[in-house]
Amino acid sequence: MEFDIAVLGGDGIGPEVTQQSVKVLKSVEGLFGHRFNIKEGDVGGASIDKHGTPVKAEVLDVAASADAVLFGAVGGPKWDDPSASMRPEEAILQLRAHLGVFANIRPVKVYPWLADSSVLKPSVTKDVDLVVIRELTGGLYYALPKGRTDTPQGLSAVDTMRYSEVEINRILRVGFELARSRQKKLASVDKANVLECSRLWRFLATQMSEDYPDVQLEHVLVDSCAMLLIQQPNRYDVIVAGNTFGDILSDEAAVLASSMGLLPSASLSDVPVAGRRIPGFYEPIHGTAPDIAGKGIANPIGSILSMAMMLRYSLSLTEEAASVERAVDRVLQDGYRTADVAVGGATTSTAEMGDQVVAALGSAG
Ligand code: NAD
Repeated sequence: MEFDIAVLGGDGIGPEVTQQSVKVLKSVEGLFGHRFNIKEGDVGGASIDKHGTPVKAEVLDVAASADAVLFGAVGGPKWDDPSASMRPEEAILQLRAHLGVFANIRPVKVYPWLADSSVLKPSVTKDVDLVVIRELTGGLYYALPKGRTDTPQGLSAVDTMRYSEVEINRILRVGFELARSRQKKLASVDKANVLECSRLWRFLATQMSEDYPDVQLEHVLVDSCAMLLIQQPNRYDVIVAGNTFGDILSDEAAVLASSMGLLPSASLSDVPVAGRRIPGFYEPIHGTAPDIAGKGIANPIGSILSMAMMLRYSLSLTEEAASVERAVDRVLQDGYRTADVAVGGATTSTAEMGDQVVAALGSAG
């Protein structure tokens, strides 16, 4: 099969790790007989420097017309001046809006081979395999009114939390569908004891659960979820939350795996159902890591696994995706470690890690 993939590496370690996932993608192309047409573009600080804008309209169009977008990361100290007229991060916001992605999916898997690399006890993180789904385009971060005013009593600020039935239902459906394809357990996160939006969320989740009698639905208050996620992460399979709660919980969940460099994410514009191809935006969860950029030591696994998610959700190449995931597992089991997850001993460079995944993919095939 033939696919167009937009590859937007960005800044710092973004291009370094993306280069490795493209290397693995090329190997999938050879092994499985597909054709991936790679279309590269500048984004973030690199685009500001070259073109005077965080993302050109032409790049937005390349992304929108591609079957999927593989993204690195954007930003860095060079573009951090608070008085600057544009910021690299605007590229992500514009791409999300242009692609209409509303569901951020972040799997967190703890590899037994890396148990000693985590700050948490191996007994707590053992067998953790969960997914956090975050609503990406609504709620507190976007609703109006929003802003700061000067009042006779001093400064005052307002943000608004608003969710419509349509917005809640479409993200809940992503949760139910993913849970159905996994361990059939869905935790719906809210703050229904305080927030009206959460009461609507809980009502709609309960209503939708009638369509999914095979999925066990649990309502959990966000504060309780934050605690349980660290105490008993194993109780969770799929967690679905609104924008703000999902933002916080997905970063917390990332701590379960030993390094940010390991974790992938997908942002989708529709409900993933087996066999249906959905345009999407795929990126590792980490940023541009200016402290290690250019040193060739970044962990590319988050990017490689993001590419595997792309194969599964946007290209419907399920077996190919599983092969890449198995190859990553094999490489870690064989003891290859980038510096972020190494506990003593020799470390593996970014490029070598990519080469090892390619080798494991080839030998498994
Ligand atoms: P970061 O994720 O870039 O780095 C946090 C820490 O994790 C650093 O010590 C870094 O070295 C380490 N790290 C991150 N990814 C790694 C990898 N693949 N391998 C090994 N170690 C890794 O977060 P930050 O330092 O808060 O942000 C740096 C810049 O990245 C900022 O400009 C920020 O705005 C930007 N950022 C961009 C995105 C994005 O593009 N989606 C996301 C987060 C941060």
